[in-house]
Amino acid sequence: MTARVLVVDDILANVKLLEARLTAEYFDVITAMSGPDAIEICKRGECDIVLLDVMMPGMDGFETARQIKSDPETQHLPIIMVTALDQPSDKVKGLQAGADDFLTKPVNDLALITRVRSLARLKTLTDELRMRAATTKDMGLVDVNVPPVGNQTSDGRVLLIEDRASSQERISRTLGDRHSVSIESNPHEAVFRASDGDFELFIVSLNFTDFDGLRLCSQIRSLERIRNTPILIVTEPEDNARLLRGLELGVNDYIVRPIDPNELHARVSTQLRRKRYAEHLRTNVQNSMEMAITDPLTGLHNRRYMEGHLRTLVEEAVARDKPLSLLIADIDFFKAVNDTHGHDAGDEVLKEFSNRMRINIRGVDLACRLGGEEFVVVMPETDRGVALQVAERMRQCMAQQEFPIHNGTNSVAVTVSVGVATIEHENDTPDSLLKRADQALYAAKRDGRNRVVADAA
Ligand code: GH3
Ligand code: MG
Ligand code: MG
Repeated sequence: MTARVLVVDDILANVKLLEARLTAEYFDVITAMSGPDAIEICKRGECDIVLLDVMMPGMDGFETARQIKSDPETQHLPIIMVTALDQPSDKVKGLQAGADDFLTKPVNDLALITRVRSLARLKTLTDELRMRAATTKDMGLVDVNVPPVGNQTSDGRVLLIEDRASSQERISRTLGDRHSVSIESNPHEAVFRASDGDFELFIVSLNFTDFDGLRLCSQIRSLERIRNTPILIVTEPEDNARLLRGLELGVNDYIVRPIDPNELHARVSTQLRRKRYAEHLRTNVQNSMEMAITDPLTGLHNRRYMEGHLRTLVEEAVARDKPLSLLIADIDFFKAVNDTHGHDAGDEVLKEFSNRMRINIRGVDLACRLGGEEFVVVMPETDRGVALQVAERMRQCMAQQEFPIHNGTNSVAVTVSVGVATIEHENDTPDSLLKRADQALYAAKRDGRNRVVADAA
């Protein structure tokens, strides 16, 4: 997992130190020595994460964070505040300004890398959602730039999983005035309770008398229904090893005992804000997109969506110098299926074809019905060799087993011809790519059908 990290500090030696550590872990590092410069870089979309010093002349780190988090174009960027050890109130001020996390100077190497990595992972998810939302916006359907979620961080539904009565009491009293806090003392019951309920945040103790709280975190992360729900763990000081293990497991944040009420509030707010932001994007995207961009017969994306999203994906791939391939699949002699078995049977074949296509691609691949019996799959980060394998697997999957028709009372043999194209030059466009795939498809048809052909390398 790599990412572009913007390091902001007014002291050159500090910039250089963080830059060296991050570069050693293969992060791309960009630097800025003032708040306004940092904001410009964020606006230009040149970074994925911001590491922000608090004390800077002119605009300080708090104000910089506030501005980044209040601009709809940049509010999704994770910010890690770098605070001084002797200024504990900076933590809370930083979180209130919208920072997602903080590190204390002198910065601990392992903490630095783990925090940056965990936020990079989150950023990838948010980017994907934003990109999809941007496609919908291009089609005039919704507004991508969600208004800053700002202070909508009250009334959270929180599940506290903790067996110590005193700690239960302290946490629920602190949060109780703003949120609804449910308590579960039994860690074995907690997984059921967590997945049955409609919670927005889990607070998990790592100090059960005879149970490993990290096990619970990993169980939560493996359950489809709640894997996106944030987890905040509560640890003892000096328990760094388990803390880091937790962050690797996908725990979103932690707080160390004794719990500072302000810090707890701020951390809960941050997690709720992030959760609600992601959720907002997700429902926005789902509701308005699904109908407008889905092919009703097969449930795949339609041509309109493909064209919009392909443009974004090609731009991304070219800008980041990553491979990208696509394939066009066209069913062979499909007209004959209609002519022989009827139009309804033809529809059944199209549905089954789409299902087989879906199981042969990855979740990040984009599958669409271009129209009629023609389909496209866009495969990000995929070179020609892999794309050919995918296409060939798909071809075999169609040819190997006949397609049921007339509700399973009959069946028909179906084959497919596939053309594959891969980005070659930085001036490749969606059109040039589709055109090359189409030419390859034409060659596959001409050479006898039921085969895969790649564009000329
Ligand atoms: P080739 O191997 O050259 O691709 O031959 P083909 O018969 O598959 O190609 P052609 O383009 O001549 O025919 C495509 C047929 O697909 C014609 C059209 O009636 C049928 N078709 C298009 N959309 C649908 C649909 O939604 N349902 C059904 N049942 N048939 C469709
Ligand atoms: Mg055809
Ligand atoms: Mg055709």
